[in-house]
Amino acid sequence: MPTPARYAVIGHPIAHSLSPFIHALFAAQTGECITYEALDGGAAVDGFERVLAGFWAAGGCGANVTLPFKLRALQCADEASAEARAAGAANALRLVDGRVEAHNFDGLGLVRDLAAHGGALAGARVLLLGAGGAARGALLPLVQAGAARIVVANRTALRAQQLVQELAAHLPASVQLAACALDELPAAGAFEVVVNATSASLGGAAPAVPAAAFAPQTLAYDMVYGKGLTPFLALARAAGARCADGLGMLVEQAAASFAWWRGVQPDAAAARAQVQRHLKQQGIECL
Ligand code: NAP
Repeated sequence: MPTPARYAVIGHPIAHSLSPFIHALFAAQTGECITYEALDGGAAVDGFERVLAGFWAAGGCGANVTLPFKLRALQCADEASAEARAAGAANALRLVDGRVEAHNFDGLGLVRDLAAHGGALAGARVLLLGAGGAARGALLPLVQAGAARIVVANRTALRAQQLVQELAAHLPASVQLAACALDELPAAGAFEVVVNATSASLGGAAPAVPAAAFAPQTLAYDMVYGKGLTPFLALARAAGARCADGLGMLVEQAAASFAWWRGVQPDAAAARAQVQRHLKQQGIECL
């Protein structure tokens, strides 16, 4: 038996993480000999850095990083992908010849899951709600996928403006990028894709997005998962839009991490169906 290659997800808290379950599915699908564990980075000032250093010293090959450590994960890296640099954060690390490489697959996961739900991005008008880490990570991959116009709208309009200004340097001039406050949205008309990258759904609220943002062909996507039909998705559905939650994004970013580490692409759609069954068995609401 070969010694399994060691992988982990580091976050705080981390007990709830679905990543060990998802990567165990990928390992079973592909026959890759790995272990994948959940490590708590704790609340100490240098907790994440110490856990990560200990993980590398113990033979760790790669790690996913989740809240609240994605910014610090990028700072720990010797090299970073364009996506991680644009996001200012990393959600995947690997150790290659003693050097730490960082990537951010959250945006790619979103783009792949939008495609899986029939959300064509080439030439599309996209509304991105939110200006936190998730919105920041989504912007460059949305552009790379061919979105023609992206409007970033946030409760705190200044943060949306800052995000767009910072990211403009990383983006081709061909894409139309705009920032606005939520209450300026009625003038913007309808979008083909509306992504809720705010954390409002976690608190049972919806960002104040007007019904006019949705048309019958719009795909409304909430990055949050396990909350059923969130207030944002209910609003979108009432306006005639199609709805999807962020479970597929989670599985797709995990699949991209796995392929980056192992050189083997797992079947994300099959894993997503299994994760959904797993959640439903625990009484967790899925779309
Ligand atoms: P974050 O950095 O804390 O940003 C939160 C954002 O939500 C900010 O733009 C904030 O606006 C906005 N917001 C919060 N409550 C709101 C409300 N009631 N109404 C309107 N806007 C509100 O969080 P994040 O890291 O970007 O994560 C955002 C969400 O994405 C989380 O729910 C997270 O679970 C989800 N996510 C999912 C995946 C996945 O794989 N599916 C991956 C990453 C993140 P202000 O700037 O005005 O405060």
